[in-house]
Amino acid sequence: MIHKYKWNVIVIGGGLAGLTTALHLASNNFSVCLVERSEYPKHKVCGEYVSNEVLPYLKSLRIDPFTVGAKQISKFKITDTNGDPITATLPLGGFGISRYTFDSLLFEALKNKAEIIFDTVEKIIFEENQFRVTTQNKSVLLADFVVGAFGKRSNIDTFLKRKFMQESSPWLGVKAHYDYDFPDDTVALHNFNGGYCGLSKTETGTVNACYLATFKSFKKYGDIEAFQKQELSKNPFLDKFFSGAKPLFERPLTISQISFQEKKPVENHIFMVGDSAGLIHPLCGNGMAMAIKSAQFFSEMLIQLFQKGEFDRTAMERQYASQWHNEFDERIKTGKFIQRILLNPYLAKAGFAMVKTFPSLVPKLIQKTHGNPTE
Ligand SMILES: Cc1cc2nc3c(=O)[nH]c(=O)nc-3n(C[C@H](O)[C@H](O)[C@H](O)COP(=O)(O)OP(=O)(O)OC[C@H]3O[C@@H](n4cnc5c(N)ncnc54)[C@H](O)[C@@H]3O)c2cc1C
Repeated sequence: MIHKYKWNVIVIGGGLAGLTTALHLASNNFSVCLVERSEYPKHKVCGEYVSNEVLPYLKSLRIDPFTVGAKQISKFKITDTNGDPITATLPLGGFGISRYTFDSLLFEALKNKAEIIFDTVEKIIFEENQFRVTTQNKSVLLADFVVGAFGKRSNIDTFLKRKFMQESSPWLGVKAHYDYDFPDDTVALHNFNGGYCGLSKTETGTVNACYLATFKSFKKYGDIEAFQKQELSKNPFLDKFFSGAKPLFERPLTISQISFQEKKPVENHIFMVGDSAGLIHPLCGNGMAMAIKSAQFFSEMLIQLFQKGEFDRTAMERQYASQWHNEFDERIKTGKFIQRILLNPYLAKAGFAMVKTFPSLVPKLIQKTHGNPTE
């Protein structure tokens, strides 16, 4: 199929970052085309705890996760590898919702406002001040602006020869839903050698268990069941969970080659939002909020510049990159610091002892990995 049409903006990838950008711009009279490679609804590897910092913005887009049953979460529990717990009240709190439902909620809000094409983008060429986007099914789409919202790792990263693709990314993510008695208002983070596992409730009342592990720690076992039984279950909380919880998926979802290397928020004139621009360590529970927030400030910038009639591409790229770094660099840096401590048995022991002596450190660290709510 050859399908040529010119849009103000093409958004590549329909996860939270892409759907939010498309919805914000399409609601402000931009002609928007979103290209997503797979249909909704779908499960994704994710901890499914969303920070409340994005609630006022979602409300301004008429998205309310509580209408589909999201659970309000206000408490945090963390255990060390021996299962020794520390509890805290979350400074801002959040909500539990599956990606299956959250992404679909945004898709439903968008579907009559923008063109949505289910296809895989293969090439993005920028020449003579416009973009030409080519898909696997041979559609050719033209636009003034392209937003890259294609997630952690995509064929487009290879096409663009992005630097992080050449470096090793030895992380594995695993997720599944379970039937298990667990409090609605709590998000838990349980450590094990080589990783950590998050537990929280979703809108259906099921418990989402999602963990991140180094490939090195996983490789000794080679399969997920053995890894969970023999490594994760050394933590008594995880032992109790995995021996008592009833799995609701035929098998857990997995992703590998997760990279936390630095990325650029603008590459080849493409404005990157969400994980395409950079990743925070999942233990912070802030990746989805960052995806939504980057969509927000990119869209606000574009709308403002269109209203003023200012289209200096170089200035826009500089402004977006600078805003991205101002918003997120500190969160990412703090996330890296916490991750380094948690995954080193000696540092983790000292860290837990310190936090037990000074419990106010927990909400302070959480605050440093989160932003403030903005409309
Ligand atoms: C183990 C783990 C646990 C996590 N837990 C949490 C948590 O509890 N809380 C939190 O806030 N964050 C968490 N995160 C982070 C969060 O999942 C991400 O930050 C978030 O999904 C980013 O959204 P996104 O829209 O940028 O990317 P995605 O949701 O990955 O969306 C990208 C989309 O692009 C599409 N795509 C890719 N390539 C193409 C192409 N060529 N053509 C068309 N479409 C394409 C994909 O199909 C996909 O739908 C976790 C991450 C991991 C790995």
